[in-house]
Amino acid sequence: MREIFKKQFQEELDLLEIKLEDNQIDQFYDYFEILVEWNKVMNLTTIIEMEEVITKHFADSLSLVKAVKDLSEKEYKIIDVGTGAGFPGIPLKIVFPQLNITLMDSLNKKVKFLNEVIDKLGLDGIQAIHGRAEDMGRDVKYRGQYDLCLSRAVANLSTLSEYCVPFVKVGGSFIPYKSGKIEEELGAAKHAVFLLGGKVEGLETFLLPGTDAERSLVLIRKNSETSGKYPRKAGLPSKEPLK
Ligand code: SAM
Repeated sequence: MREIFKKQFQEELDLLEIKLEDNQIDQFYDYFEILVEWNKVMNLTTIIEMEEVITKHFADSLSLVKAVKDLSEKEYKIIDVGTGAGFPGIPLKIVFPQLNITLMDSLNKKVKFLNEVIDKLGLDGIQAIHGRAEDMGRDVKYRGQYDLCLSRAVANLSTLSEYCVPFVKVGGSFIPYKSGKIEEELGAAKHAVFLLGGKVEGLETFLLPGTDAERSLVLIRKNSETSGKYPRKAGLPSKEPLK
């Protein structure tokens, strides 16, 4: 199984032009095994078949290389909001060990899983925290502290911007992983992004390597401090997205 995994994953890595050492590929395989094992007793992901985990979780997480070209050189401080079972944060940490990554999720059982993965894979410079974005984004320990905020499959872009932009330093970026009708979503969220101190500066749309699944990475630059009004209290950003 490990050998088949390595061969299939290597094909994805080649398409993304990412080169890894054997021990890093082993870390991905160990992560896959822990994911499958824990998923038997808790609902972490519906994607569990090996080939799909490789394309839809691992390669998709790593597709950030298409939007951020200097990931291998910089010691970026990154927060992954609503990370779930660790996507995209853990794959990025395995490939780019110099990154400092905070994984955040509102479900404590997922944080327990993340700590197990961090421990078993021997990762450092990565921490999993339990909390809601709306609360953590008001905490001075996290607010305005990150070069990059990433988030995949958590909320619509307006809601997600209110969760995420407060974490970013002025000059840093929020990069949501999006799929579907992105132009429409961008139009609906444009004013929200502006209210939060951000500006949409770029969009990378591509097919996930080796699949016909479309992925868009939106580059939202933070140009000014987020007003103290945001994020609003827990629940409001999703109930009444900023317009
Ligand atoms: N990012 C992962 C992925 O792409 O596989 C997980 C996506 S899962 C569909 C959404 C995750 O966001 C869940 O784990 C959920 O607990 C978390 N979440 C939802 N709302 C949140 C909030 N307000 N603050 C923090 N985490 C949140």
